[in-house]
Amino acid sequence: MTARIQGIRGMNDILPGETPYWQYVEDAARRVLDAYGYREIRPPLLERTELFARSIGEVTDIVEKEMYTFSDRSGDSLTLRPECTASMVRAAIEHSLLRGQIQRLWTMGPMFRYERPQKGRYRQFHQIDVEVFGAAGPDVDAELILLTSRLWRALGLPGLRLELNSLGTRDAQAAYRSRLVDYFRRYRDELDEDSRRRLDTNPLRILDSKNSQMQHLIEAAPKLVEHLDAESDEHFEELKAILAAAGIEFRVNPRLVRGLDYYTRTVFEWVTERLGAQGAVCGGGRYDNLVADIGGEPAPATGFAIGMERLVALLRTHDVEPPTHAPHAYLLALGRDAARAAHPLAERLREQCPRLRLVVDGGEGGLKRRLRRADRSGAQLALILGEDEVRDACLSVKQLRTPADQARVPQTELGEYLQRVLVDEGTGQ
Ligand code: AMP
Repeated sequence: MTARIQGIRGMNDILPGETPYWQYVEDAARRVLDAYGYREIRPPLLERTELFARSIGEVTDIVEKEMYTFSDRSGDSLTLRPECTASMVRAAIEHSLLRGQIQRLWTMGPMFRYERPQKGRYRQFHQIDVEVFGAAGPDVDAELILLTSRLWRALGLPGLRLELNSLGTRDAQAAYRSRLVDYFRRYRDELDEDSRRRLDTNPLRILDSKNSQMQHLIEAAPKLVEHLDAESDEHFEELKAILAAAGIEFRVNPRLVRGLDYYTRTVFEWVTERLGAQGAVCGGGRYDNLVADIGGEPAPATGFAIGMERLVALLRTHDVEPPTHAPHAYLLALGRDAARAAHPLAERLREQCPRLRLVVDGGEGGLKRRLRRADRSGAQLALILGEDEVRDACLSVKQLRTPADQARVPQTELGEYLQRVLVDEGTGQ
Protein backbone atom coordinates (compact mmCIF):
# COMPACT_ATOMS: atom_id res chain seq x y z
CA MET A 1 0.00 0.00 0.00
CA THR A 2 1.18 3.53 -0.67
CA ALA A 3 2.29 5.37 2.45
CA ARG A 4 -0.37 7.58 3.97
CA ILE A 5 0.23 11.30 4.15
CA GLN A 6 -0.29 12.63 7.64
CA GLY A 7 -1.56 16.01 8.72
CA ILE A 8 0.84 18.46 10.35
CA ARG A 9 1.54 18.19 14.07
CA GLY A 10 -0.35 20.81 16.05
CA MET A 11 -2.76 21.50 13.19
CA ASN A 12 -6.13 19.92 13.78
CA ASP A 13 -8.89 18.69 11.55
CA ILE A 14 -12.06 19.94 13.14
CA LEU A 15 -14.36 17.03 12.43
CA PRO A 16 -18.13 17.02 11.77
CA GLY A 17 -18.75 15.85 15.34
CA GLU A 18 -17.06 19.01 16.66
CA THR A 19 -18.17 21.65 14.17
CA PRO A 20 -21.56 22.15 15.88
CA TYR A 21 -19.63 23.54 18.88
CA TRP A 22 -17.69 25.87 16.61
CA GLN A 23 -20.79 27.07 14.84
CA TYR A 24 -22.46 27.62 18.18
CA VAL A 25 -19.53 29.81 19.30
CA GLU A 26 -19.32 31.64 15.99
CA ASP A 27 -23.06 32.35 15.87
CA ALA A 28 -23.13 33.60 19.45
CA ALA A 29 -20.06 35.80 18.85
CA ARG A 30 -21.60 37.31 15.71
CA ARG A 31 -24.83 38.08 17.55
CA VAL A 32 -23.07 39.69 20.51
CA LEU A 33 -20.70 41.70 18.31
CA ASP A 34 -23.64 42.91 16.24
CA ALA A 35 -25.42 43.97 19.39
CA TYR A 36 -22.49 46.26 20.29
CA GLY A 37 -22.13 47.77 16.82
CA TYR A 38 -18.93 45.98 15.75
CA ARG A 39 -18.31 45.36 12.06
CA GLU A 40 -16.52 42.44 10.46
CA ILE A 41 -13.25 42.80 8.55
CA ARG A 42 -11.34 39.95 6.92
CA PRO A 43 -7.63 40.53 6.47
CA PRO A 44 -5.51 37.93 4.63
CA LEU A 45 -3.64 35.18 6.47
CA LEU A 46 -0.28 36.25 5.05
CA GLU A 47 1.49 39.51 5.77
CA ARG A 48 4.96 40.90 5.33
CA THR A 49 7.21 39.53 8.07
CA GLU A 50 8.23 43.04 9.03
CA LEU A 51 4.69 43.84 10.19
CA PHE A 52 4.89 41.33 13.01
CA ALA A 53 8.51 42.02 13.89
CA ARG A 54 7.68 45.69 14.31
CA SER A 55 4.41 45.28 16.19
CA ILE A 56 4.68 42.21 18.40
CA GLY A 57 8.32 43.03 19.19
CA GLU A 58 11.64 41.57 17.99
CA VAL A 59 12.42 40.11 21.40
CA THR A 60 9.27 38.12 22.01
CA ASP A 61 8.75 34.36 21.89
CA ILE A 62 6.44 34.77 18.93
CA VAL A 63 8.83 36.69 16.72
CA GLU A 64 12.01 34.97 17.90
CA LYS A 65 10.91 31.39 17.48
CA GLU A 66 7.28 30.83 16.63
CA MET A 67 6.55 32.38 13.26
CA TYR A 68 5.94 30.48 10.04
CA THR A 69 8.11 32.64 7.82
CA PHE A 70 9.18 31.94 4.25
CA SER A 71 10.27 33.70 1.09
CA ASP A 72 7.76 33.70 -1.71
CA ARG A 73 8.79 33.24 -5.32
CA SER A 74 9.83 36.83 -5.71
CA GLY A 75 11.97 36.70 -2.59
CA ASP A 76 9.71 38.71 -0.25
CA SER A 77 9.70 37.53 3.33
CA LEU A 78 6.14 36.63 4.30
CA THR A 79 4.68 35.26 7.52
CA LEU A 80 1.50 33.37 8.31
CA ARG A 81 -0.16 35.59 10.87
CA PRO A 82 0.61 34.53 14.46
CA GLU A 83 -2.09 36.91 15.70
CA CYS A 84 -4.38 39.41 14.08
CA THR A 85 -4.06 42.78 15.78
CA ALA A 86 -1.16 43.85 13.59
CA SER A 87 -3.08 42.92 10.43
CA MET A 88 -6.12 44.82 11.63
CA VAL A 89 -4.02 47.92 12.27
CA ARG A 90 -2.27 47.57 8.92
CA ALA A 91 -5.57 47.22 7.09
CA ALA A 92 -7.16 50.11 8.97
CA ILE A 93 -4.27 52.42 8.07
CA GLU A 94 -4.08 51.23 4.48
CA HIS A 95 -7.78 51.81 3.84
CA SER A 96 -8.01 55.08 5.77
CA LEU A 97 -10.48 53.71 8.28
CA LEU A 98 -8.95 55.67 11.13
CA ARG A 99 -9.35 59.30 10.13
CA GLY A 100 -11.00 60.99 13.08
CA GLN A 101 -13.35 58.08 13.55
CA ILE A 102 -14.03 55.42 16.08
CA GLN A 103 -13.88 52.02 14.41
CA ARG A 104 -15.25 48.93 16.12
CA LEU A 105 -14.01 45.91 14.18
CA TRP A 106 -13.81 42.15 14.50
CA THR A 107 -12.52 39.17 12.62
CA MET A 108 -12.37 35.42 13.15
CA GLY A 109 -10.01 32.81 11.79
CA PRO A 110 -6.85 30.74 12.01
CA MET A 111 -3.52 31.93 13.48
CA PHE A 112 -0.20 30.10 13.22
CA ARG A 113 2.54 29.72 15.81
CA TYR A 114 5.31 27.17 15.86
CA GLU A 115 4.81 26.26 19.51
CA ARG A 116 5.24 22.94 21.29
CA PRO A 117 1.84 21.32 20.73
CA GLN A 118 0.02 20.24 23.87
CA LYS A 119 -3.53 20.28 25.18
CA GLY A 120 -4.92 23.75 24.47
CA ARG A 121 -1.84 24.84 22.53
CA TYR A 122 -1.65 24.24 18.82
CA ARG A 123 0.28 25.40 15.79
CA GLN A 124 -2.83 26.36 13.92
CA PHE A 125 -5.45 27.72 16.28
CA HIS A 126 -8.37 30.09 15.88
CA GLN A 127 -9.18 33.42 17.41
CA ILE A 128 -12.08 35.80 17.54
CA ASP A 129 -10.28 39.11 17.35
CA VAL A 130 -11.94 42.38 18.33
CA GLU A 131 -10.39 45.83 18.09
CA VAL A 132 -11.51 49.42 18.65
CA PHE A 133 -9.57 52.25 17.04
CA GLY A 134 -9.79 55.93 17.84
CA ALA A 135 -11.14 55.82 21.39
CA ALA A 136 -8.79 56.61 24.25
CA GLY A 137 -11.03 56.35 27.30
CA PRO A 138 -11.36 53.57 29.86
CA ASP A 139 -15.04 53.30 28.93
CA VAL A 140 -14.04 51.46 25.75
CA ASP A 141 -11.77 49.06 27.62
CA ALA A 142 -14.79 48.43 29.85
CA GLU A 143 -17.06 47.95 26.82
CA LEU A 144 -14.77 45.22 25.49
CA ILE A 145 -14.85 43.45 28.82
CA LEU A 146 -18.64 43.74 29.06
CA LEU A 147 -18.92 42.34 25.56
CA THR A 148 -16.84 39.29 26.44
CA SER A 149 -18.78 38.79 29.63
CA ARG A 150 -22.03 38.86 27.64
CA LEU A 151 -20.60 36.29 25.24
CA TRP A 152 -19.83 33.92 28.13
CA ARG A 153 -23.42 34.33 29.30
CA ALA A 154 -24.80 33.81 25.78
CA LEU A 155 -22.82 30.58 25.54
CA GLY A 156 -23.91 29.37 28.97
CA LEU A 157 -20.37 29.50 30.41
CA PRO A 158 -20.13 30.26 34.09
CA GLY A 159 -17.02 30.74 36.19
CA LEU A 160 -14.54 32.56 33.96
CA ARG A 161 -12.40 34.90 36.03
CA LEU A 162 -11.27 38.33 34.89
CA GLU A 163 -7.72 39.44 35.64
CA LEU A 164 -6.71 43.03 35.09
CA ASN A 165 -3.52 45.03 35.14
CA SER A 166 -2.17 48.29 33.84
CA LEU A 167 1.21 48.58 32.13
CA GLY A 168 1.17 52.39 32.00
CA THR A 169 2.57 54.48 29.18
CA ARG A 170 5.78 53.67 27.34
CA ASP A 171 7.62 56.17 29.60
CA ALA A 172 6.27 54.53 32.72
CA GLN A 173 7.28 51.16 31.29
CA ALA A 174 10.80 52.43 30.60
CA ALA A 175 11.20 53.79 34.12
CA TYR A 176 9.82 50.59 35.56
CA ARG A 177 12.06 48.52 33.33
CA SER A 178 15.21 50.04 34.81
CA ARG A 179 13.82 49.57 38.30
CA LEU A 180 13.14 45.93 37.46
CA VAL A 181 16.57 45.40 35.92
CA ASP A 182 18.23 46.83 39.05
CA TYR A 183 16.19 44.46 41.16
CA PHE A 184 16.85 41.29 39.12
CA ARG A 185 20.57 42.14 38.71
CA ARG A 186 20.90 41.81 42.47
CA TYR A 187 19.70 38.18 42.13
CA ARG A 188 21.37 37.38 38.83
CA ASP A 189 22.68 34.03 40.06
CA GLU A 190 19.19 32.86 40.82
CA LEU A 191 17.84 33.60 37.35
CA ASP A 192 17.55 30.89 34.71
CA GLU A 193 19.30 31.32 31.39
CA ASP A 194 16.25 32.62 29.57
CA SER A 195 15.62 35.25 32.18
CA ARG A 196 19.26 36.33 32.28
CA ARG A 197 19.04 36.96 28.57
CA ARG A 198 15.79 38.84 29.02
CA LEU A 199 17.43 41.06 31.60
CA ASP A 200 19.12 42.81 28.69
CA THR A 201 16.42 42.42 26.10
CA ASN A 202 12.93 42.29 27.60
CA PRO A 203 13.01 42.26 31.41
CA LEU A 204 9.23 42.57 31.79
CA ARG A 205 8.86 39.10 30.38
CA ILE A 206 10.82 37.66 33.32
CA LEU A 207 7.64 38.28 35.32
CA ASP A 208 5.88 35.88 32.96
CA SER A 209 8.29 33.02 33.71
CA LYS A 210 6.75 29.75 34.82
CA ASN A 211 10.02 28.54 36.40
CA SER A 212 8.95 27.53 39.90
CA GLN A 213 12.41 28.23 41.35
CA MET A 214 12.11 31.87 40.44
CA GLN A 215 8.62 32.43 41.75
CA HIS A 216 9.71 33.88 45.10
CA LEU A 217 11.93 36.38 43.28
CA ILE A 218 9.15 37.35 40.90
CA GLU A 219 6.67 37.62 43.75
CA ALA A 220 8.88 40.14 45.54
CA ALA A 221 9.78 42.17 42.43
CA PRO A 222 8.61 45.78 42.20
CA LYS A 223 5.16 46.02 40.64
CA LEU A 224 4.46 48.20 37.63
CA VAL A 225 0.95 48.94 38.77
CA GLU A 226 2.46 50.64 41.82
CA HIS A 227 4.64 52.87 39.65
CA LEU A 228 2.17 54.11 37.09
CA ASP A 229 2.22 57.59 35.64
CA ALA A 230 -0.63 59.76 36.94
CA GLU A 231 -2.74 59.54 33.78
CA SER A 232 -2.49 55.78 33.49
CA ASP A 233 -3.32 55.51 37.14
CA GLU A 234 -6.44 57.58 36.62
CA HIS A 235 -7.37 55.54 33.52
CA PHE A 236 -7.02 52.31 35.51
CA GLU A 237 -9.03 53.63 38.47
CA GLU A 238 -11.81 54.74 36.13
CA LEU A 239 -11.88 51.38 34.35
CA LYS A 240 -12.21 49.59 37.66
CA ALA A 241 -14.99 51.97 38.73
CA ILE A 242 -16.95 51.38 35.50
CA LEU A 243 -16.58 47.62 35.82
CA ALA A 244 -17.68 47.72 39.45
CA ALA A 245 -20.70 49.85 38.47
CA ALA A 246 -21.58 47.30 35.78
CA GLY A 247 -21.32 44.43 38.25
CA ILE A 248 -18.24 42.81 36.67
CA GLU A 249 -15.97 41.08 39.15
CA PHE A 250 -12.22 41.23 38.59
CA ARG A 251 -8.91 40.70 40.27
CA VAL A 252 -5.93 42.98 39.77
CA ASN A 253 -2.98 40.75 38.87
CA PRO A 254 0.21 42.85 38.94
CA ARG A 255 2.07 40.05 37.15
CA LEU A 256 -0.13 40.05 34.10
CA VAL A 257 2.18 41.38 31.36
CA ARG A 258 1.05 39.41 28.26
CA GLY A 259 3.38 38.07 25.61
CA LEU A 260 3.32 40.91 23.13
CA ASP A 261 5.22 44.16 23.36
CA TYR A 262 2.68 46.61 22.07
CA TYR A 263 0.45 46.91 25.11
CA THR A 264 0.17 50.14 27.09
CA ARG A 265 -2.11 50.78 30.06
CA THR A 266 -4.96 48.26 30.36
CA VAL A 267 -4.27 44.56 29.93
CA PHE A 268 -6.70 41.81 30.81
CA GLU A 269 -7.27 38.08 30.61
CA TRP A 270 -10.24 35.81 31.18
CA VAL A 271 -9.01 32.62 32.79
CA THR A 272 -10.39 29.29 33.91
CA GLU A 273 -9.08 26.50 36.14
CA ARG A 274 -10.91 23.87 34.12
CA LEU A 275 -8.43 23.57 31.24
CA GLY A 276 -5.21 22.78 33.09
CA ALA A 277 -2.09 24.73 32.22
CA GLN A 278 -3.61 26.54 29.24
CA GLY A 279 -6.25 28.39 31.21
CA ALA A 280 -6.30 31.74 29.36
CA VAL A 281 -9.37 31.81 27.15
CA CYS A 282 -9.21 35.46 26.16
CA GLY A 283 -6.56 38.14 26.40
CA GLY A 284 -6.19 41.70 25.35
CA GLY A 285 -5.56 45.28 26.25
CA ARG A 286 -4.81 48.77 25.09
CA TYR A 287 -2.07 49.57 22.58
CA ASP A 288 -2.06 53.30 22.06
CA ASN A 289 1.30 53.47 20.24
CA LEU A 290 0.91 50.68 17.71
CA VAL A 291 -0.94 52.56 14.97
CA ALA A 292 1.84 55.15 14.85
CA ASP A 293 4.52 52.44 15.09
CA ILE A 294 3.12 50.81 11.96
CA GLY A 295 3.18 54.11 10.13
CA GLY A 296 -0.30 55.54 10.68
CA GLU A 297 -1.38 58.85 12.19
CA PRO A 298 -1.32 58.26 15.94
CA ALA A 299 -4.61 56.79 17.14
CA PRO A 300 -5.49 55.11 20.43
CA ALA A 301 -6.53 51.48 20.20
CA THR A 302 -7.69 48.63 22.37
CA GLY A 303 -8.77 45.05 21.72
CA PHE A 304 -8.69 41.38 22.61
CA ALA A 305 -8.54 37.88 21.17
CA ILE A 306 -10.45 34.82 22.25
CA GLY A 307 -8.88 31.39 21.76
CA MET A 308 -11.64 29.38 20.08
CA GLU A 309 -10.16 25.91 20.72
CA ARG A 310 -10.06 26.69 24.42
CA LEU A 311 -13.57 28.10 24.39
CA VAL A 312 -14.87 24.95 22.71
CA ALA A 313 -12.96 22.76 25.20
CA LEU A 314 -14.45 24.76 28.04
CA LEU A 315 -17.97 24.35 26.66
CA ARG A 316 -17.41 20.61 26.69
CA THR A 317 -16.30 20.60 30.33
CA HIS A 318 -19.61 22.28 31.15
CA ASP A 319 -21.58 19.78 29.06
CA VAL A 320 -23.06 22.60 27.00
CA GLU A 321 -24.85 20.97 24.08
CA PRO A 322 -24.78 22.95 20.85
CA PRO A 323 -27.90 22.90 18.67
CA THR A 324 -28.09 19.73 16.60
CA HIS A 325 -27.39 19.71 12.90
CA ALA A 326 -28.80 16.24 12.38
CA PRO A 327 -31.31 16.00 9.54
CA HIS A 328 -34.98 16.19 10.40
CA ALA A 329 -35.91 13.71 7.75
CA TYR A 330 -34.19 11.03 5.70
CA LEU A 331 -35.82 10.21 2.39
CA LEU A 332 -35.29 6.65 1.20
CA ALA A 333 -35.95 5.90 -2.44
CA LEU A 334 -36.36 2.20 -3.21
CA GLY A 335 -36.01 1.26 -6.84
CA ARG A 336 -35.36 3.21 -10.02
CA ASP A 337 -38.73 4.93 -10.38
CA ALA A 338 -38.52 6.09 -6.78
CA ALA A 339 -34.94 7.29 -7.23
CA ARG A 340 -36.10 9.44 -10.16
CA ALA A 341 -38.98 10.86 -8.20
CA ALA A 342 -37.02 11.46 -4.98
CA HIS A 343 -35.02 14.56 -5.86
CA PRO A 344 -37.88 16.54 -7.43
CA LEU A 345 -40.00 15.67 -4.40
CA ALA A 346 -37.21 16.68 -2.00
CA GLU A 347 -36.74 19.97 -3.82
CA ARG A 348 -40.45 20.77 -3.42
CA LEU A 349 -40.24 19.97 0.29
CA ARG A 350 -37.20 22.21 0.74
CA GLU A 351 -39.10 25.03 -0.90
CA GLN A 352 -42.12 24.50 1.33
CA CYS A 353 -40.07 24.21 4.55
CA PRO A 354 -37.00 26.40 4.10
CA ARG A 355 -35.27 25.29 7.29
CA LEU A 356 -35.92 21.61 6.85
CA ARG A 357 -32.78 19.46 6.92
CA LEU A 358 -33.48 16.62 4.53
CA VAL A 359 -31.12 13.90 3.30
CA VAL A 360 -31.97 12.02 0.14
CA ASP A 361 -30.78 8.42 -0.08
CA GLY A 362 -31.31 7.00 -3.54
CA GLY A 363 -28.57 4.44 -3.07
CA GLU A 364 -28.28 0.71 -2.99
CA GLY A 365 -29.36 -1.85 -0.45
CA GLY A 366 -32.50 -3.24 1.09
CA LEU A 367 -34.94 -1.41 3.30
CA LYS A 368 -33.50 -2.72 6.55
CA ARG A 369 -29.96 -1.59 5.83
CA ARG A 370 -31.14 1.75 4.57
CA LEU A 371 -33.27 2.29 7.67
CA ARG A 372 -30.15 1.69 9.74
CA ARG A 373 -28.41 4.41 7.73
CA ALA A 374 -31.37 6.70 8.34
CA ASP A 375 -31.13 5.98 12.04
CA ARG A 376 -27.38 6.65 12.14
CA SER A 377 -27.90 10.02 10.46
CA GLY A 378 -29.73 11.17 13.59
CA ALA A 379 -32.90 11.99 11.64
CA GLN A 380 -36.26 11.98 13.40
CA LEU A 381 -38.22 10.71 10.43
CA ALA A 382 -37.62 8.25 7.64
CA LEU A 383 -39.63 9.06 4.52
CA ILE A 384 -39.95 5.90 2.50
CA LEU A 385 -40.60 6.14 -1.20
CA GLY A 386 -41.06 2.68 -2.76
CA GLU A 387 -42.87 1.48 -5.88
CA ASP A 388 -46.27 1.52 -4.14
CA GLU A 389 -45.75 5.02 -2.84
CA VAL A 390 -44.70 6.28 -6.28
CA ARG A 391 -47.83 4.72 -7.77
CA ASP A 392 -50.12 6.18 -5.10
CA ALA A 393 -48.33 9.57 -4.96
CA CYS A 394 -47.75 9.25 -1.24
CA LEU A 395 -44.94 8.48 1.21
CA SER A 396 -44.62 6.18 4.19
CA VAL A 397 -43.45 8.12 7.21
CA LYS A 398 -41.65 6.25 9.97
CA GLN A 399 -40.80 7.84 13.31
CA LEU A 400 -37.21 6.91 14.16
CA ARG A 401 -37.03 8.30 17.70
CA THR A 402 -40.47 7.55 19.12
CA PRO A 403 -42.55 4.40 18.87
CA ALA A 404 -45.45 5.19 16.52
CA ASP A 405 -47.26 3.50 13.69
CA GLN A 406 -46.01 4.12 10.21
CA ALA A 407 -48.20 6.70 8.47
CA ARG A 408 -48.98 7.08 4.78
CA VAL A 409 -49.09 10.71 3.75
CA PRO A 410 -50.08 12.02 0.30
CA GLN A 411 -47.14 13.80 -1.33
CA THR A 412 -49.21 16.95 -1.75
CA GLU A 413 -49.74 17.11 2.03
CA LEU A 414 -46.22 16.19 3.02
CA GLY A 415 -44.91 19.74 3.32
CA GLU A 416 -47.65 20.64 5.76
CA TYR A 417 -47.23 17.37 7.60
CA LEU A 418 -43.50 18.01 8.10
CA GLN A 419 -44.10 21.55 9.25
CA ARG A 420 -46.53 20.28 11.87
CA VAL A 421 -44.26 17.49 13.09
CA LEU A 422 -41.11 19.59 13.17
CA VAL A 423 -42.61 22.81 14.42
CA ASP A 424 -41.01 22.40 17.86
CA GLU A 425 -37.63 22.75 16.25
CA GLY A 426 -38.62 25.96 14.54
CA THR A 427 -38.72 24.31 11.15
CA GLY A 428 -42.15 25.66 10.27
CA GLN A 429 -42.32 28.89 8.35
P1 AMP B 1 -2.49 36.04 22.43
O1 AMP B 1 -2.69 36.36 20.98
O2 AMP B 1 -1.18 35.34 22.68
O3 AMP B 1 -2.73 37.21 23.32
O4 AMP B 1 -3.59 34.95 22.81
C1 AMP B 1 -4.94 35.23 22.91
C2 AMP B 1 -5.68 33.93 23.18
O5 AMP B 1 -5.49 33.05 22.08
C3 AMP B 1 -5.15 33.15 24.37
O6 AMP B 1 -5.77 33.58 25.55
C4 AMP B 1 -5.53 31.74 24.02
O7 AMP B 1 -6.88 31.49 24.37
C5 AMP B 1 -5.42 31.71 22.51
N1 AMP B 1 -4.12 31.12 22.08
C6 AMP B 1 -2.94 31.72 21.97
N2 AMP B 1 -1.99 30.87 21.50
C7 AMP B 1 -2.61 29.69 21.30
C8 AMP B 1 -2.20 28.41 20.80
N3 AMP B 1 -0.95 28.17 20.42
N4 AMP B 1 -3.12 27.42 20.74
C9 AMP B 1 -4.41 27.63 21.12
N5 AMP B 1 -4.85 28.83 21.57
C10 AMP B 1 -3.98 29.84 21.66
